[in-house]
Amino acid sequence: MTDRQEIENLILEYPIYQYVFLRPEDVMFTERVRTICKQECKRYGTSWSCPPAVGTVEECRERTLGYTDVLFFSTVTEVAEILDMDQTLATRGPHEEVTTEIEQLLASRGYRVLTLSSESCAICSKCAWLEGKPCRHPDVMHPCIESFGIVVSDLAEKGEMDYYLGEHELLWFTLMFLGKD
Ligand code: SF4
Repeated sequence: MTDRQEIENLILEYPIYQYVFLRPEDVMFTERVRTICKQECKRYGTSWSCPPAVGTVEECRERTLGYTDVLFFSTVTEVAEILDMDQTLATRGPHEEVTTEIEQLLASRGYRVLTLSSESCAICSKCAWLEGKPCRHPDVMHPCIESFGIVVSDLAEKGEMDYYLGEHELLWFTLMFLGKD
């Protein structure tokens, strides 16, 4: 069983804006998100962290079975213009660092962790998926939350967390499925 109090004590060391624990059954998986990925996201089909490389929505859901708890958290950063995609993506690094550090910390405490994060993986300048090769860093790459068919705004609403803070503050989100044997 996971120990929420222990996890809370560990993550309070990090610059997290908001966090909430959810139950795995609170997380909805929907094909509708996959359709949006396909039709509207230029990262579709370009990364191991995005569809179709992550598998079907049902396969993604099956990967989350066996976890008993869910940690959902956000970090916040200031941006001059939230609609400027290049500028907003450039602010993502610190969130990924926090995510990776928390993931590794929880793993070191004996937790099994499946981590999904905002946007597709950007560890490599060119994803190995485009070359038909295996992911170069499968242990540290984080699939995009939406790639699993999960609606981030739905999680924020269920967790009573902020989803939008206006034009000059940007929220990044991480979703961790947790288990402990
Ligand atoms: S670590 Fe590299 S190869 Fe793996 S998903 Fe990320 S960008 Fe692609």
